[in-house]
Amino acid sequence: MPASSARAGSPNDLEAFWMPFTPNRAFKAAPRMIVGADGLDYIASDGRRIIDGTSGLWCCNAGHNRAPIVEAIRKQAGELDYAPPFQFGHPKAFAAASRIAALAPGDLNHVFFANSGSEAVDTALKIALAYQNITGNGTRTRLIGRERGYHGVGFGGISVGGIVGNRKLYGGLLTGVDHLPTTYNREQQAFTKGEPDWGAHLADELERIVGLHDASTIAAVIVEPMAGSTGVLPSPKGYLQRLRAICDKYGILLIFDEVITGFGRLGTAFAAERYGVQPDILTFAKAVNSGTVPMGGAIVRAPVFEAFMRGPELAVELPHGYTYSGHPLAAAAALATLDLYRDEGLFERARAIEPTFADAVMSLRGLPGILDIRTIGLAAGIDLEPRPGAAGRRAYEVMVAAYEAGAMVRVTADTIALAPPLIVDEAAIGRLTGIVANAIRTVG
Ligand code: PMP
Repeated sequence: MPASSARAGSPNDLEAFWMPFTPNRAFKAAPRMIVGADGLDYIASDGRRIIDGTSGLWCCNAGHNRAPIVEAIRKQAGELDYAPPFQFGHPKAFAAASRIAALAPGDLNHVFFANSGSEAVDTALKIALAYQNITGNGTRTRLIGRERGYHGVGFGGISVGGIVGNRKLYGGLLTGVDHLPTTYNREQQAFTKGEPDWGAHLADELERIVGLHDASTIAAVIVEPMAGSTGVLPSPKGYLQRLRAICDKYGILLIFDEVITGFGRLGTAFAAERYGVQPDILTFAKAVNSGTVPMGGAIVRAPVFEAFMRGPELAVELPHGYTYSGHPLAAAAALATLDLYRDEGLFERARAIEPTFADAVMSLRGLPGILDIRTIGLAAGIDLEPRPGAAGRRAYEVMVAAYEAGAMVRVTADTIALAPPLIVDEAAIGRLTGIVANAIRTVG
């Protein structure tokens, strides 16, 4: 019998949990186990405090175990544990949708709830396709994503996404998908704070794609205003405006995937506000309730929503949804979180502390093997030179060394990503970047 089966069932066994996006064997040989959290810190199983340099996974924007959010979840669990979202409702889902819509720019007024970023993306893509269909544009079935885009792990998301490692094992994926080029160019943009000056013209590639396929075949374009998972790649100045203009010219819907940028990461409620561009559909998840209860969704402009509301009264307008859409615990957590963001002015706080954060991260520039550093809002990507023949190893070692020295950072390929909770202060930024600097030196 294989060793893993022999151990199965023991409470200390690490084998049964097949961990996502993790080198399972390396982790299980030396587990990094988190048992608690408090404010800016995680508590490790050996009792050490670990400063959270990544807001968990870009989600705990209010910091950890915040009393008003904890209390709201506790209260909701004792009041209404669950209610079906098909044919029935409960007040907090409606209240949460109203509050979320109020934060989104312009007439992004209607919220369809899902439970994750991946589901939010599939929801947005399906709404876009269905909208084209019901408005007499049924030939518009093509979806356009972007190289180095990350849109979760559903088949829709990996099809429009642009990370080869997430795609190559899974067959042909969705047909009729094309990709814009990435906006990242190290030669032109290295060591930029905020939106790079170079790269707006790359939006014109959409014109080329329209020229290749014809606008009558294209339903929607999906991009992250700042690509987070592939290393913090902010859209260049003017790029999103140009995408918006080309989409308008050809009747293509524009989707912003704001699963990472939503709820203050860039110092505004949504990146759409910082960039001054309104998409037709905007996806969110993660920080909507500071990562406490799974929740995601798509916010839709009024004209798109209204197109669905014209059919027979008893027809289901959109045959789509999840058992847990607008779950009471997630909705209660969202309401408490949005109150906390407002009452503590956390989006404004992120905006105010952005220069301090940017300077602290940029000060790592002289360390060995650093190829680029990018910062925007409270997010930063630090590119390390890969070791020959061992892509990703150097950054992985830095992540492990930082953890041992008391900081959680995120690693993706040879990039270290930082995204602390929005409650971070100058001293905590210093502590975090100091640990990262030492880890980079130690790993060498
Ligand atoms: N879209 C974007 C832009 C993301 O960053 C992520 C997750 N990092 C997702 C979608 C997927 O979210 P989830 O992991 O909640 O499915």
